[in-house]
Amino acid sequence: MVVVMRPDATCAQTAQIISRIEGWGYRIHLSEGEERTIIGIVGNGRPLDRGQIERMAGVERTVPILRPFKLASRDFHPQDTAIRVGNVTIGGPNLVVIAGPCSVESREQLLETAWAVREAGAHMLRGGAFKPRSSPYSFQGLGEEGLRILAAAREATGLPVVTEVMEPDLVPLVASYADVLQIGARNMQNYALLRAVGESRQPVLLKRGMMATIEELLMAAEYILSQGNDQVILCERGIRSFETYTRNTLDVSAVPLLKQLSHLPVVADPSHATGKWELIEPVSRAAVAAGADGLLIEVHPRPQEALSDGAQSLKPARFTAMMQGLRPITQVLGRSL
Ligand code: PEP
Ligand code: MN
Repeated sequence: MVVVMRPDATCAQTAQIISRIEGWGYRIHLSEGEERTIIGIVGNGRPLDRGQIERMAGVERTVPILRPFKLASRDFHPQDTAIRVGNVTIGGPNLVVIAGPCSVESREQLLETAWAVREAGAHMLRGGAFKPRSSPYSFQGLGEEGLRILAAAREATGLPVVTEVMEPDLVPLVASYADVLQIGARNMQNYALLRAVGESRQPVLLKRGMMATIEELLMAAEYILSQGNDQVILCERGIRSFETYTRNTLDVSAVPLLKQLSHLPVVADPSHATGKWELIEPVSRAAVAAGADGLLIEVHPRPQEALSDGAQSLKPARFTAMMQGLRPITQVLGRSL
């Protein structure tokens, strides 16, 4: 349930209501907007007496939240959540582009890519050190050495880094190097991992599972938020469909739908959605036009030599051209790049 305070309610009235409701064993999520304060109440299983709350001083009305996700819901938090990572803000007016190789393969490969994407205007660097691979015989990532290389690339270029964490026990290690923890599609419903990143205070980029519904994605976000980490970025990375020309199918409608249902920033990943470098630029344009707050793009200096996802990696020159092509679109939308 949310309690909508009157526009003229005082801070003292709000504080009094919060202390009453907390006293009944509920958790509070306060959202102070320009015009109104909204008090979100996360249940303890027992029904609340709406009438009793509506009689308290300063309350305008109460609204029951029927959706299963609460903290992730826009009803709880009407304003957009903007997440700051270094000097980058994701979920604000500027489009944020996160680019880099699928995997960190070597210091040289990552540094070369990092400088190239920075030069092209990317805001953050991606690269996997722990890789979820379909085959146990495929390259599994460089592990901690990969994290050290990512940190060195951040040091050199100033770009904040995003990297995947696959196990709850590794969250402290990955968080000690990374600026943003990525939860991969395969782990979207690994609840122990979601709790572990929820306990960390690092921003989390949560990828939609390849067979997950929008509601399942938002419930996964709810796991992280309910642990007290309110910095969650949602990522649409394509879902499985009957189509085989593309690796997955980008659910473009997920972008505006997530923005309607939730206050969290939404980024799109046309690389994993399409699996084909030729499709990344047009599909990126579609995602940006649909309202995505950011893009996740795989870039490799020599895709034919990549140890993972070469077929969907752009060469730096193509990435640069794509960034230039996105600028007029962001302008029409009143955003900048
Ligand atoms: C990745 O970002 O390289 C990755 C493995 O993505 P996903 O979890 O979306 O497949
Ligand atoms: Mn990849």
